[in-house]
Amino acid sequence: MTHVEHLPGVRGVSEDWPAWTPPSVRERLAEQGITAPWSHQVAAADLARSGSNVIIATGTASGKSLGYLLPCAEALGEGGTVLYLSPAKALAADQLRSLTALGLPGLRAATYDGDTPQAERAWVRANANYVLTNPDMLHHAVLGRHAAWSGFLRRLRYVVVDEAHRYRGVFGSHVAQILRRLRRVCARYRRDPVFILASATTGTPEESACRLIGAPVAAVTEDASPRPALSFALVEPELTDDTGEHGAPVRRTATAEAAAVLADLVGEGVRTLAFVRSRQASEVVALTAQRILRERDARARSAPPPDDPWLLPEPGAEAAAAEPDPPTEGAAAASPTEGTAPDGTAGSAELRGRLAERVAAYRAGYLATDRRGLEESLRTGDLLGLATTNALELGVDITGLDAVLITGWPGTLASLWQQAGRAGRTGRDALAVFIARDDPLDTYLVHHPEAVFGRPVEATVIDPANPYVLGPHLCAAAAEIPLTEDDLPLFGPGAERVLADLVDRGLLRRRPRGWFWTRRDRPSALADIRGAGGPPVQIVESASGQLLGTVDEAAAHGTVHEGAVYLHQGLTYVVEELDLENGVALVRGEAPDYSTWARDTTEIEVLRTERDEAWGPDAAVHFGEVEVTRQVVSYLKRDIRTGAVLGEQVLDLPERRLNSRAVWWTLSPEAADRLRKADVDVRGAAHAAEHAAIGLLPLFATCDRWDIGGVSTALHADTGCLTVFVYDGHEGGAGFAERGYAAARDWLTATRQAIADCECADGCPSCIQSPKCGSGNDPLSKAGALRLIDTLLADGV
Ligand SMILES: [Zn+2]
Ligand SMILES: [Zn+2]
Repeated sequence: MTHVEHLPGVRGVSEDWPAWTPPSVRERLAEQGITAPWSHQVAAADLARSGSNVIIATGTASGKSLGYLLPCAEALGEGGTVLYLSPAKALAADQLRSLTALGLPGLRAATYDGDTPQAERAWVRANANYVLTNPDMLHHAVLGRHAAWSGFLRRLRYVVVDEAHRYRGVFGSHVAQILRRLRRVCARYRRDPVFILASATTGTPEESACRLIGAPVAAVTEDASPRPALSFALVEPELTDDTGEHGAPVRRTATAEAAAVLADLVGEGVRTLAFVRSRQASEVVALTAQRILRERDARARSAPPPDDPWLLPEPGAEAAAAEPDPPTEGAAAASPTEGTAPDGTAGSAELRGRLAERVAAYRAGYLATDRRGLEESLRTGDLLGLATTNALELGVDITGLDAVLITGWPGTLASLWQQAGRAGRTGRDALAVFIARDDPLDTYLVHHPEAVFGRPVEATVIDPANPYVLGPHLCAAAAEIPLTEDDLPLFGPGAERVLADLVDRGLLRRRPRGWFWTRRDRPSALADIRGAGGPPVQIVESASGQLLGTVDEAAAHGTVHEGAVYLHQGLTYVVEELDLENGVALVRGEAPDYSTWARDTTEIEVLRTERDEAWGPDAAVHFGEVEVTRQVVSYLKRDIRTGAVLGEQVLDLPERRLNSRAVWWTLSPEAADRLRKADVDVRGAAHAAEHAAIGLLPLFATCDRWDIGGVSTALHADTGCLTVFVYDGHEGGAGFAERGYAAARDWLTATRQAIADCECADGCPSCIQSPKCGSGNDPLSKAGALRLIDTLLADGV
């Protein structure tokens, strides 16, 4: 444990209902035990009702939904309609359930998503006055057929954007354009609906919300709901005797640590939720915690224990030390072969024996009824420990917890607080524990508590002006209603240039009255709003012919190449063949005891430098357009228990090109020579700095390590200098590299600290080794990276 922060409890501040609240709504809420609203709910409701767009950015379980429910209920009573948007179908279904349970008079609520049968869709369009859908449906099925929705749109009073902080990166940029199209279509029906956004606490919420909807938004951020006192611990797992790549020391994995802590807490009767990064990690944590509890029970019964058997050290706890977290959902990694520990005798009625049965795993793939059952058991305390992916973070209603374990950085401070906010029962103190994974960012955080506790949460980063995002939406908008000059400001300053390009490419036609879509196909197919690039690759089980799922074309080379271990809904498959021409990967069910990691080579070319800043005579930082050429060339097999490399397999896959944006540092050849003379391995230093910098960028730009890539070289042809590039992994860029450029000094400083903080001697996965390194983490120089970064930063003083 590296740090414990004690956060005091807060009392709630309630207010009277706004005078305009319909009496029937007040009655229904009172029946549910809500007798007075918190002041932030009233502030948001009043703003929305007065016609102002508003974002409610407050903590977990602060009752954001009541803030939008009040004005929406009033509007429904007056014959208006409400459109509710959520990023996930499951959340919309949960919302529908609680809305229906409230029993508002005159409410005709319905979901409209991919699961809605065709026959029901016409009914929804014609009759529902509260439609719950998602941006995908809006994009593909609603906006293009707005005439069919005219009755609904003509009466539209409010658009609720729930979980607004989820709209970030490329997906967020697409959603921003979809919402602009929605506003334009509404204007056609003479409606200017008020947008109410509900968000986790984020930095600069007005600004982010305004960027998302393209119109001014007021923010309500003062959280007036009560909070229990919270102790928040930071934990760094210990180094073990095992070694990984190039003999680097390996830490006990975060999942093994989480399982041990979960078992301890459950043993104490503490209701605990453990957040992990992947589905199979949730299974591993639950199974391991169960086994620890059974073993304790067996020992307790075979030998009379000392006073407190729960506090004994756990010799067996390392056994499931596999950190199987895959780079992305469904990507290469294997679930452990280990099953539940056979335990012939522990089924006794004794309480300790039953503790193991009070631990379970929970994930998004479960059926709704299973999920409800687990949620209910946790609420009643029948279940004491639950390991889960962030499926639960999506608004699902779990209350009555004492402790929350967060295994690995959840991506943003906002998510961290949202997960920690799950802990706390009325009148009781709460515990949150952050367990660091093998990753430079996690290492940095457990050694720099001020970066967790002394920092405002980050702003969500989107870049709606990205021409690769904007282009398809301009086509879709033109198909919805022909575009005119007057529409251009809505889509931003780059719109005119992008339109000219679309006309050149024959996608739109320019006529005196504006821009027209004259093709027969549907323009919404041009934008793949959740992915990037071409049509997704289908994953098919070869024996049964069953379609298991899809992966983005861009990710296919790295995740479903021949021989890759692929994970789907907790089951493990091995890829037999990747047929790129037909976009199909054939897989067979198999659970090998290794995971696979693709290796690639990357080259980068500078197309245009947009900004740069000299830090002195030798060092500078730049931002601009680049072309990245990548090729997956091989994959590694790694033992899932120890992480040890078992072998490397060569692959034959074509190159992929990506036009993107990058931030890069340069150091003059003279300064590089001085470092060489001082015995610094310059290539290894640049490479190590690149890895650690990629790991730390999520601290400054709300991205995932897997959203960005890097290239480093002792001498780059375009810059003539030692250069370290970090680029956006999405066509056209997603705004991450730009953020990195803006925060370059702080980012590089944090990168240096993360490397220096790690207690290893020559580099390990917690500092400079990268799980997705294209060149096998070779060469790398930890000491050199520190010298290099010092030189870069000193030059800027
Ligand atoms: Zn290290
Ligand atoms: Zn590398």
